[in-house]
Amino acid sequence: PRVMAVYGTRPEAIKMAPIVQALQGSAVGVDVVVTGQHRHMLDQVNAVFGIEPDADLDIFAHGQGLEAVTSRTLDRLTPVLREREPAAVIVQGDTTSAFAAGLAAFYLKIPVIHVEAGLRTPTIWSPFPEEGNRRLLSRITTLHLAPTPTARDNLLREGTDPASIAVTGNSVIDALLTTAGTSRPIADPTLAATDLDGRRVVLVTSHRRESWGEPMARTARALARVADSEPDVTIVLPLHANPRVRDIFVPALAGRANVVLTEPLGYTDFAQLTARAEVVVTDSGGVQEEAPSLGKPVLVLRDDTERPEAVTAGTAKLIGTDEQRVVDEIERLLHDAAHYATMANAVNPYGDGKAAARSVAAIEHLLGVGERLPDF
Ligand code: UDP
Repeated sequence: PRVMAVYGTRPEAIKMAPIVQALQGSAVGVDVVVTGQHRHMLDQVNAVFGIEPDADLDIFAHGQGLEAVTSRTLDRLTPVLREREPAAVIVQGDTTSAFAAGLAAFYLKIPVIHVEAGLRTPTIWSPFPEEGNRRLLSRITTLHLAPTPTARDNLLREGTDPASIAVTGNSVIDALLTTAGTSRPIADPTLAATDLDGRRVVLVTSHRRESWGEPMARTARALARVADSEPDVTIVLPLHANPRVRDIFVPALAGRANVVLTEPLGYTDFAQLTARAEVVVTDSGGVQEEAPSLGKPVLVLRDDTERPEAVTAGTAKLIGTDEQRVVDEIERLLHDAAHYATMANAVNPYGDGKAAARSVAAIEHLLGVGERLPDF
């Protein structure tokens, strides 16, 4: 049998890559179809993992709405599905294109496999549209690859058949562990030219829709204050390609010697930078999961999270985007060693680097060519 993996954004690619690699060496073949979103960042990730897409749907146009993403995904993926007749379609996470790709498969009665299934926030609107996309995907999914027992329990509470769920760990940890340990030279020219010797590094990323505008501006002002009051700290902020992110952070932070703004970093650069950082401040889902497995405390610039495991374990803290609070929480981690140690030493709840093997075993089992592995 042959399955088809469909993805388009950087985080989807990072989480899908270990599974695609493992499928390539399994009894199940895999075709890779990209949607064309985040094209440059996606190419970088595929290159790191040696993946060459078999088809590119080229769905994304500047300024198009979610309805256009949905309808274009349906229009362009359906003929590819008809032609290649995959035994199942694999999608990851909660983007609108992942949901629409699942829907295209569902309409052709092709089983849907959902990677990172079962994440939930309390209301369907938060974050919009991801929470809705997640819930909609769950209803048309045949095999739920849940990253953690918490995610499995969310699915069970909604009446999902337990036999359709495998708990795999999160494949982002597989990607990270195979990447962070490599000591490849830094590729980004700005980062490569930055001397971090003896510096305390605060790594920041912020790009989510819910942070756009005033919340992001408050974060930017808080970072400027930390930079000005902490001369031995270097804040490194890889900027997302989205101009809504750049237009806020660049004017607020440019011109400071101890703030480094870079282009989106390739995955090997970013993984090595995370390993080098003392504190991670982020609104990203993937970064929230990665940092704890490198023993880094994470301050989450959001009011709720579909990833409560690290908050419960104590390695992550939800701090929102109040300017004073962001300053205080960073300062506390920089100066309160006991507090720092408590967060840094908590156990990473997201995976053990074997999520891809468990996922592939569950996929083989679904397709009748193998046996499942025990849950994570
Ligand atoms: N990442 C990267 N380069 C960067 C910033 C992030 O490779 O400059 C990686 C990071 O390691 C993580 C993923 O991108 O695996 C997170 O993606 P993003 O924050 O775009 O999306 P989210 O996780 O919030 O969906």
